[in-house]
Amino acid sequence: MMLAAELALAKVDVAVVERRPDHVLVGSRAGGFHSRTIEVLDQRGIADRFLAEGQTAQAAMFGTTMLDMSDFPTRHPYALGIWQNKIERIMAAWITELPVRIYYGSEVTGFAQDDTGVDVERSDGEPLRARYLVGCDGGRSAIRRAAGIEFPGWDPTKSTLIAEVELTEEPPQGMRHDAIGVHALHTMEDGRTVRVIVGEQQLGPSSEPTLRDLSEALIAVYGTDFGIHNATWISRFTDMTRQAAAYRAERVLLAGDSAHVHYPAGGQGLSLGVQDAVNLGWKLAQVVNGTSPESLLDTYQAERHPVAARALQHTMAQSALQRRDERNKALIDVVSELASMDEPRKRLAGLISGLDIHYDLGEGHPLLGRRMPDLDLVTDDGPLSVFELLRGAKPLLLNLAEPGGFNLTPRAERVQLIDAEYVGPWELPVLGAVTAPTAVLVRPDGYVVWVGDGTHLGLPEALTAWFGPPTAG
Ligand SMILES: Cc1cc2nc3c(=O)[nH]c(=O)nc-3n(C[C@H](O)[C@H](O)[C@H](O)COP(=O)(O)OP(=O)(O)OC[C@H]3O[C@@H](n4cnc5c(N)ncnc54)[C@H](O)[C@@H]3O)c2cc1C
Repeated sequence: MMLAAELALAKVDVAVVERRPDHVLVGSRAGGFHSRTIEVLDQRGIADRFLAEGQTAQAAMFGTTMLDMSDFPTRHPYALGIWQNKIERIMAAWITELPVRIYYGSEVTGFAQDDTGVDVERSDGEPLRARYLVGCDGGRSAIRRAAGIEFPGWDPTKSTLIAEVELTEEPPQGMRHDAIGVHALHTMEDGRTVRVIVGEQQLGPSSEPTLRDLSEALIAVYGTDFGIHNATWISRFTDMTRQAAAYRAERVLLAGDSAHVHYPAGGQGLSLGVQDAVNLGWKLAQVVNGTSPESLLDTYQAERHPVAARALQHTMAQSALQRRDERNKALIDVVSELASMDEPRKRLAGLISGLDIHYDLGEGHPLLGRRMPDLDLVTDDGPLSVFELLRGAKPLLLNLAEPGGFNLTPRAERVQLIDAEYVGPWELPVLGAVTAPTAVLVRPDGYVVWVGDGTHLGLPEALTAWFGPPTAG
């Protein structure tokens, strides 16, 4: 849905094919997202919709250590607790405001690509012809398989059941750790349904779990199944960790869980997927609109593959830290001590929050390849924040020196030029203070691709590389 929104904002004709009958998600699934994802939604002006229905908290964890990030220089120095079914409902409502077509109850059963497009076969009707197809179809992605993209990684070693049930006995609230991992019981907002997360003694099968499986797992950990009944949702997740070897096979691309799966420790999966979408959306739009060559799409994998690979590595480490047997406890104690020190805290919080993402765009100012901070600016149109200027998902050349120092003709339609004043500090999460630039060129996803130092050196090249040659479009 995020990718569809990004494409629609760039005026690309886009359709979502979803096999579910509607956007309603059975089960709560993910419990929220992190700071950079809130920022990304803020860049589109919709963060408030999520903030209004969730709860902000210091919730970035590494192993057993809570990583307080309230001192990070961002408008959102926290995580947002909000269930995935609410997230999807809010997203679905947003994209109906944009020109996005959704075919619900429609399953992609295959596709055939040629030199100019992709014929997408569906279970319920005529094939759709598209210039590009993006598989956002989850960890078991049929599109990834049909594209012949390998999914190397690690097989599962442990499984956990997750369910929403009613209990006849009062359950102990909160988390419990043991040699298997982490278990949790949590009464939900209706006061009746309990969200159960319970590790299984042995790795469970890939078939759908049953109430009996849940009962056995609860008895093994808690000595009772609390009289479970009325399960509305039971699912199983594992610590399987895999990443697509390629994010693109010609006209077919992957984003979200179809490109990477991992143990949910740290709660990063949904955030990674939303940010994949925001990285890919404007690039794909420019290629479709004829502004940029297809090679721009290569930067999607070059930038996003390393980010997910790093998240996979850290979730595997976190998964190991959740096994609290006597021997592992020594490791946990050492890691906890280190993680509570200031420098490691910032590094780990930067990673889990997504605020430290650094796309490798070569040597230069520390802002190059990093997120543009949401500065409060004074412009000819009055006070505006950087994120407000990114709402339309259009590139931004921000001139912070003498007004009138830049001329964007003939790209004026494609790139916004804003003369602005900013008097505050320049500070980046994890890195700290950086030298104030005189101008910055910011992509629609909020990452800086050129930093001015009083000259225009490198600007024409950056504009062409990222937003197409002057004559394109
Ligand atoms: C217990 C648990 C807790 C988690 N907690 C967090 C958390 O706190 N924070 C976080 O960021 N992430 C969390 N995650 C991860 C998060 O849920 C996933 O990363 C996220 O849902 C991935 O989104 P996606 O859109 O890529 O894939 P999915 O959510 O899997 O969506 C894929 C969609 O494609 C549809 N589809 C599949 N195949 C087809 C087809 N052939 N044709 C048409 N439609 C199809 C499906 O119906 C589905 O709607 C958690 C996951 C689990 C299991």
